[in-house]
Amino acid sequence: MDKFLIPPRQSLIEFKRAWTCDLEPTISTNSLPSIYVAPLGQSGSRCRQGHFLPFVPSGTTTNLCGRCGGMPTDKMGVISRDVDILEEPSRVLSRAWWHSSNNSDIYNDPNTIPIHLGSRKAAEQRFETMHYRYLYMVRMRPNARVSPQIFIESEYYDPGHKTMAAIANKGEIVRYINNSEEAGGVSLLTAKYNFESQPSREVR
Ligand SMILES: [Zn+2]
Repeated sequence: MDKFLIPPRQSLIEFKRAWTCDLEPTISTNSLPSIYVAPLGQSGSRCRQGHFLPFVPSGTTTNLCGRCGGMPTDKMGVISRDVDILEEPSRVLSRAWWHSSNNSDIYNDPNTIPIHLGSRKAAEQRFETMHYRYLYMVRMRPNARVSPQIFIESEYYDPGHKTMAAIANKGEIVRYINNSEEAGGVSLLTAKYNFESQPSREVR
């Protein structure tokens, strides 16, 4: 099995056991099971054999392993850019986050369902796939609370994102490793309560 270790962070990413669907759905920062870090330029998607897959090419929806032809699985890794967000929850608060939607005003919408936020790349990918009209940029309140739990996005682990939503509804920002847009990148689920202010919006 391949290893892609970043020397200063070996404690985090040293792989201790094979990642299978039999493992618990969440990992916590206190007892974070090791997780592979994708090599630069590769997504966090991995085939059954553990090879990292490239990012899904624009305009397509599926991706196959370049080495064995296998399909993506739930054996996610994390992209190197976001290792620090897994290690240090407060890093969530120092980044800008993005959301794409057809909703012209997510901030003043009376709907209180938690909102998914991700990197600009992830939001733009969703924007293109779903043919959305609006791209929002938002920052979190400096004193917002970030849940110590980290999730791997998967219908198998957390159908309908119910567990994540329960945490978000209690006020904490939830981090999860995205398994669709920009696979392997860290995304957030949060109530709008944690927004620092009204998000800025781009109309396309
Ligand atoms: Zn493969």
